[in-house]
Amino acid sequence: MRLIELLLSPFIRFIAGLLVVLCMNLERLPLPFLVSRTGYANPRVRRLVGWTGYWAHTLRLTLPNIRKWMKTRGELFPAVLQVQTINRCNAACDFCPYPYTVHLQEKRIMDDALYSKIVDECAAEPGLHDFVPMSKNEPLLDVKMEERVAEFKRKAQPHQLVELVTNGSPLTPVRVKRLMDAGVDLITVSLNAANEETYNRVMVGLSWRQVTDNLDALSKMDLSNVNIYLRFVREQKNREDLRVFRERWGDFNLFFFDVNNRSGTVRNYPSKIMDYDRWLSHLKRISASHVYPACPYVFSLMHILENGDVPMCANDWANREVLGNLREQSIREIYNSPRMNQLRELMAQGRFEDIEACRDCSFYHEWMKPVWKGGEA
Ligand code: SF4
Repeated sequence: MRLIELLLSPFIRFIAGLLVVLCMNLERLPLPFLVSRTGYANPRVRRLVGWTGYWAHTLRLTLPNIRKWMKTRGELFPAVLQVQTINRCNAACDFCPYPYTVHLQEKRIMDDALYSKIVDECAAEPGLHDFVPMSKNEPLLDVKMEERVAEFKRKAQPHQLVELVTNGSPLTPVRVKRLMDAGVDLITVSLNAANEETYNRVMVGLSWRQVTDNLDALSKMDLSNVNIYLRFVREQKNREDLRVFRERWGDFNLFFFDVNNRSGTVRNYPSKIMDYDRWLSHLKRISASHVYPACPYVFSLMHILENGDVPMCANDWANREVLGNLREQSIREIYNSPRMNQLRELMAQGRFEDIEACRDCSFYHEWMKPVWKGGEA
C-alpha cells in the first residue's frame, strides 16, 4: 500500500494543492453568483455559500496557523474560539456523547467576569476570526446569550464574526430577532433529518414540529444580515434523507458531513459509521493528509469550558487532557505552552498515536492516518 501511495502521491498532491489555492482565494474572486441568499448584506458572511463555501471558509481559517507553525515554530493565537457558557443541552442526539459525558456534570453557567476576560482577549487579537459562544451544549439555553453576543460584537474588530450552532428548538422568531439585534453573523442549525420519523430516531428528545415551525418562520424573516446554515451529520439512521433534505431546505445554505466518533467517546460508533469502498477511503486519507499536514484542532481552534478549563481538543468529549485555566492564564499563554507545542511537534512527526485522545479519534483514523499504517475507515 505504501508503494501505491508513493505512486499516486504527486498527482494527488497537485490536485489537493489546486483545491487549497482555490478555496483560500474563493472570497476574493470576482464571482457575482458567489453571494449567499442569507446574510448577503453582511461582508463577513456574504461569500459563505453552500457546502463548498463552508469548507473553503474552514480551510481559509485553519490552514495559515499550521503553515506558520511548521515553518517558524512561532507563537499562535486560535483563529476559531468556542466558549461553553452553559453546560446543558435539551437533546440526546444519536451521534452525540452529551448524555453520558457533559450531562453527568452539575449544571453550571459561565460567570460574567470570566466571559468578559475571554472576549477582551479575543477582541484584541487580529488573528481571531470566528467567535463561537457554543461548545458541547445547546447555547440558547443560556438566557444571557443575546447579551453575550452583543458584548463581543461591541468590542470586536470588523473582520471578527460570531457564529452560533443550535439544534433549532429554542430558535423562535423572538430569539432570532434578539440575536440579530445583538449582531450575530452566522447561525447554524443542526437538523440532520428530512422527516419526522428519522428526526425522532436521530435527534432524540426534540420535536420535529417545533424545529420546522421555527425554520419556516425564519425563512420569512429579513435575513440580509445573518447567514443561515442547516447542518446534516450523515450516519446510518439518516443516510436516506440527505437528498430530500437538500430539496426541501433550499432557502438556506446547507452543509453536510459524516458522523465522527468524538475522539472515541460516541457509543456504538461502528453501527453509525458511513461505509466507503476501501479505495475511496484510502483516497480520502491520502488527499486529506496532503491538505492538512497536521490536525487543525490544536493549531487553529480552541475551546473553553464554563469553568475556564481549556481541554486540548474540542473533539474530545472526555476532556482527557486539560492544558490550563483561563481564570489564571491568558489564551495566548495556554495556546503557546510547552505542552501545546509538544503536542504540535508530535503531530508534525505523524506521532498521533502517542497522544491519548488522538489514538482513538476517527479524524485521525479516517482522514489523517497514512495508508501504509493500515486500518480501514
Ligand atoms: S486527531 Fe487529535 S487533535 Fe485532531 S480532532 Fe482528533 S483528538 Fe483532536
